[in-house]
This record gives sequence, structure tokens and C-alpha cells, in this order.
Amino acid sequence: MAIERTLSIVKPDGVAGKHIGEILRRFEAAGLRIIATKMTHLSRREAEEFYYVHKERGFFGELVNYMISGPVVISVLEGENAVLKHRDLLGATDPKKADKGTIRADFGKDIGTNTVHGSDAVDTAKFEIGHFFSGCELHPLK
Ligand code: GDP
Repeated sequence: MAIERTLSIVKPDGVAGKHIGEILRRFEAAGLRIIATKMTHLSRREAEEFYYVHKERGFFGELVNYMISGPVVISVLEGENAVLKHRDLLGATDPKKADKGTIRADFGKDIGTNTVHGSDAVDTAKFEIGHFFSGCELHPLK
């Protein structure tokens, strides 16, 4: 199985709810290695450019306003099949439809306030990681 990298964000509700530690713990327990992490408060421009694929969607403004409403924790995870493994830990976009035991089912409130973001493909992950981290901020094991 391929070693992949993926981008993970604990969204403002996850930070405000004090779930950072538990969320990162679940990633490590599942065999994903955290090779970079930082807490930041996104600017409007950073959030708009990050979510540019959704700019024509009706919820875009709401999504951006939400993502800049408080600090977030952004991490790069590395491991076998990391993109899908991470998405499986997050659960479905709408917490009400997410499988029991997933992060969104456990901590999410609604489709807009769903606690975590995860890249949906290896190519998307490449763009998303580059949006927030430079090469020398990533620390894979040698
Ligand atoms: P994801 O890959 O599971 O995060 O889902 P999408 O790529 O479809 O959507 C990106 C993000 O936009 C989601 O995680 C939600 O936070 C938000 N989003 C999606 N649909 C809606 C919606 O109908 N209303 C609002 N407010 N936000 C939405």
C-alpha cells in the first residue's frame, strides 16, 4: 500500500470544544504520523483560496465565515493509505449521517459545523499541504 500525505484541520468548533488532543490522538492510534502541525487563525483570503473549489456553491460565504471565526489546528499526516484512512476517521460530511465512533459523529453539530476537514484525494492533499506548509516545515521520519 502506498505511503501518502493528507491535510487535516481541526475546525473552530473542534478547538473551542477542547477536542484537539483527542482528535490528534485518534490519528496516531490509527497509525498516521503527524509530520507537521500548527495552530493559526485563518485570514479571509487564506480560507477563500483554500476552499476555491466551492466558490460557486450557495454555502461558500457561510463556510468561509465559519472557518475564520476562531483558531484552527492544521496538520499534515503521513502513512499507508493516509487519505482514505483519515477520511474514515472523520466520517460523513453531515455529522447526523456519520458512522458511530467517527469524529464528526462524536463532536460535530451540523453540516457546517463538522469539527474537522480532510483532503479527499492525493492530488487535493498536495495543493492543500502547499497552501499552509513549506517543504522545510514537514518532518517525516528519515
Ligand atoms: P468534506 O470533504 O466532507 O469536508 O465535504 P465537502 O467538500 O462537500 O464540503 C466542504 C465543507 O463545506 C464541509 O466540510 C462543510 O463544512 C461545508 N459544507 C458542505 N455542505 C454545506 C452546506 O450545505 N452548508 C454549510 N453551511 N456548509 C456546508
